[in-house]
Amino acid sequence: MNDVLIIGSGLGGLACGTLLAGRGLKVLVLESSNQPGGCMQSFRRGGLHYDTGLHYVGGLAPGQTMHKAFSQLGLMDLPWQRMDEQFDRVIIGGRHFAFSQGYDAFAEGLAKDFPHQREALFGFVHRLQHITAADMEVSAYDYLRQTFSDELLLNVVSAAAMKTELRRESLPLFNFAHTCSSFIESSWRLKGDGNLLVNKLIGSIQQAGGKVLTGSKVVRLTEKDGRIVSAVCADGQTYEAEYFISDIHPATLCRMLEDCPSVRKAFRRRMAAAENTCGMFTAQLSIKPDALPYFAHNVFVYDKPNVWTMTEENEPVKGVMISARMPENDSDSLRQIDLLTPMPWHECEAWADTKVGHRGDDYQSFCRNKAQQCIALAEQYIPQLGELIEQCYTSSPLTYRDYLGSPEGSAFGMRKDCRVPMLSFHSVSTPLPNLLLTGQSIILPGIEGVTMTAFETCSKIA
Ligand SMILES: Cc1cc2nc3c(=O)[nH]c(=O)nc-3n(C[C@H](O)[C@H](O)[C@H](O)COP(=O)(O)OP(=O)(O)OC[C@H]3O[C@@H](n4cnc5c(N)ncnc54)[C@H](O)[C@@H]3O)c2cc1C
Repeated sequence: MNDVLIIGSGLGGLACGTLLAGRGLKVLVLESSNQPGGCMQSFRRGGLHYDTGLHYVGGLAPGQTMHKAFSQLGLMDLPWQRMDEQFDRVIIGGRHFAFSQGYDAFAEGLAKDFPHQREALFGFVHRLQHITAADMEVSAYDYLRQTFSDELLLNVVSAAAMKTELRRESLPLFNFAHTCSSFIESSWRLKGDGNLLVNKLIGSIQQAGGKVLTGSKVVRLTEKDGRIVSAVCADGQTYEAEYFISDIHPATLCRMLEDCPSVRKAFRRRMAAAENTCGMFTAQLSIKPDALPYFAHNVFVYDKPNVWTMTEENEPVKGVMISARMPENDSDSLRQIDLLTPMPWHECEAWADTKVGHRGDDYQSFCRNKAQQCIALAEQYIPQLGELIEQCYTSSPLTYRDYLGSPEGSAFGMRKDCRVPMLSFHSVSTPLPNLLLTGQSIILPGIEGVTMTAFETCSKIA
């Protein structure tokens, strides 16, 4: 009998496991995949490590948002390296801009390019520091339109938020601000791959007597007298616990609850009907040795001066995020670059019935073309990038669906909508008192959002 059973070993599940095991509870984490970590996992090809969903983290300096949380999780011992003072660069329509670390430096830096918007920029960074739950109902796009009269500046300050979903009608100011704020406080990369973080959390759970079982896909939860009593896995194994935490997509969880009489249909329908955020296409490049100096900043390149093109029709922006991977051998040259661009499900739906490794030549050719488009955009920052590439590995929403069980390959879980905040932001509690939720779909995606949600989830138990 376990005190807590956690479904899914993403950052949310492992953070909850670490916190609760540290408080003396007996924790069991069940992970469907053979590799733990969800979006934090990394893989190895040709002697190099590639990450999935870990490019940079914000707010790790002492006294800042994430420092305390990561200290409690034992993650501040990892080799975090501060990024360049100008941590994010933006290229829009051929013009270059930079985001500086520190709220005042951020506003001051952009005020050099937009002197007529200086007051608006300081108002903006002040607002970022005073975000409350009420901002879940405020439209990020409307707020930005009211704040900046210069259309280009509105697009520049939004450019790096490509890592959430720049959907004009729905994106709440709450999400937009959290996506920007901690990175402006300070921005960090890990010297090493995401498995360092995953292994650190698993080590803490195991040291406290807990267990993480991979290859254990939960398919059903059983209820007795209004409480969940056990989780049944695809291999027939059953595990019992006092509390259950779900770190998986809530719609997937609801399918496991179909036999639980206390979970009303309305709850299940609400979760099943919720919209998901757009997926991501990633081209992971290995670069010829000694061909390109390492750069400790990200670059966001957009062809057109309109980054808010994503509307109800789900057409995401044509832009690319360039993120260099820190060399692990202290070389000045980099070996790897990730290119990321939003990609809606309909672009890969034609291959929805295919499995990893068996998608056919037309899918391979689709991915090559998509990667070429990303490389062409990235060449606005790294001329002749195409000639420096050794290998290119691609992943699409299909990859995220198949490896992580994310519906329609959604990159950031359930979409938050400022027009219906009560329906799109969720409580960590469920109709069953001993079943709790955590992970990126609940309140906020990203490493900060998922970590903070894990603390909220655990506060309901111990
Ligand atoms: C391409 C990309 C780049 C990103 N870059 C950054 C970044 O630079 N900085 C940042 O802050 N954030 C970034 N993010 C976001 C961040 O990685 C995620 O928000 C976060 O890792 C999600 O963690 P999670 O615990 O909610 O879920 P997940 O990581 O999705 O974990 C869920 C786990 O549950 C498992 N599971 C599913 N079904 C079952 C089942 N039935 N039984 C058992 N286990 C199951 C899955 O296999 C998975 O391991 C990025 C995301 C993507 C997609």
